[in-house]
Amino acid sequence: MTFESVVEQGHETVVLCHDKVTGMRAIIALHDTTLGPGLGGTRFRPYASEAEALTDVLRLSRGMTYKNAAAGLDLGGGKAVLLGDPRTDRTSELLEAYGRAVHRLGGAYLTAEDVGTTQADMDVLKRVTPYVTGATGGSGDPSPATAWGVHHAVRAALAFLGDDVERLEGRHVVVVGVGKVGGALVAHLVQAGARVTVSDIEPVRVAELSLRLGVGIVGVDQAHRVPCDVLSPCALGAGLHERTIPELACRAVVGAANNQLAEPEDADRLAEAGVLYAPDFVVNAGGVINIAEELREGGYDQARARVAVERIAGNLTRVLEVARDEGTTTEMAAERVAERRIEAARAAATG
Ligand code: NAD
Repeated sequence: MTFESVVEQGHETVVLCHDKVTGMRAIIALHDTTLGPGLGGTRFRPYASEAEALTDVLRLSRGMTYKNAAAGLDLGGGKAVLLGDPRTDRTSELLEAYGRAVHRLGGAYLTAEDVGTTQADMDVLKRVTPYVTGATGGSGDPSPATAWGVHHAVRAALAFLGDDVERLEGRHVVVVGVGKVGGALVAHLVQAGARVTVSDIEPVRVAELSLRLGVGIVGVDQAHRVPCDVLSPCALGAGLHERTIPELACRAVVGAANNQLAEPEDADRLAEAGVLYAPDFVVNAGGVINIAEELREGGYDQARARVAVERIAGNLTRVLEVARDEGTTTEMAAERVAERRIEAARAAATG
């Protein structure tokens, strides 16, 4: 490991964790803890190299700083990667060894579920450290909260474009990817009166939704071309790029998928195409807002968490206003909003 990328991206602390008995190897990265402890999940996967694992944890922890700050949470950015194959290397001993490594950071890092880890894993970690979220009895599966947040972001984006969004009648939303988040989002949109078209590589998912909720279906290659009010990417990232952006026929893109822009220039391409892009990390913060509710006095309360998630509408509106007023892309505006919160907190702390 070199200091180069750590310094370049502004990380505070990067820890290599190792356990002699189990062979556990993990990297925990704290990007910025000005607003509070770094909250972010533990990704468990067999990285091709240590360099790849480090690159991933640095990128992901930095992303959490921006996501948590833009969500209005008093939390910083952190993330961890556990090196190995969860299918073969997952043992209680290894997870407990990892939990002790999290514990040694004394609460500066709060972990959660991520790709490759499960709620059962969080339960194991909880045996050795309190610095864990998402264990049994906590906030549970974040997907419903994420979907609720996306639904409110869709309304906020349409309101910003001048629509009356009391009901979504007459509005058409295309949801690409109808898994845990997309599927729940479709139900909210239909309930609010929107016309919905869905797309997924799994034919049974779209067929089930079509049957149950009467939504339309479109093939995955055609979905981004459908004339509609909102395109909602809820599958994989990097779907917005040089080739797809000129083909968009929507007024706004508002979805849950992480890293929707294939490259930074795509934010400019969307602006030039006249499509309002709602930055993904602002839109999909419902999961983390829900988790943060565990940390509140009195513990997690689902009804209170639901209301907290609705703040995403206001967060997104502010970002869209900053972009308009400062003549920048919405992606850049979201980053500025997050950075300004952190700078203000830093200034207040240093007097
Ligand atoms: P999921 O795996 O439950 O659902 C993803 C769906 O997308 C599946 O139905 C899959 O078949 C479909 N899909 C995959 N490739 C596709 C393609 N090329 N075209 C169309 N459909 C495709 O995942 P999820 O939990 O619903 O998350 C969806 C997205 O939202 C992911 O990018 C995830 O990182 C992001 N996200 C999720 C949460 C959460 O709380 N679950 C929070 C923040 C961000």
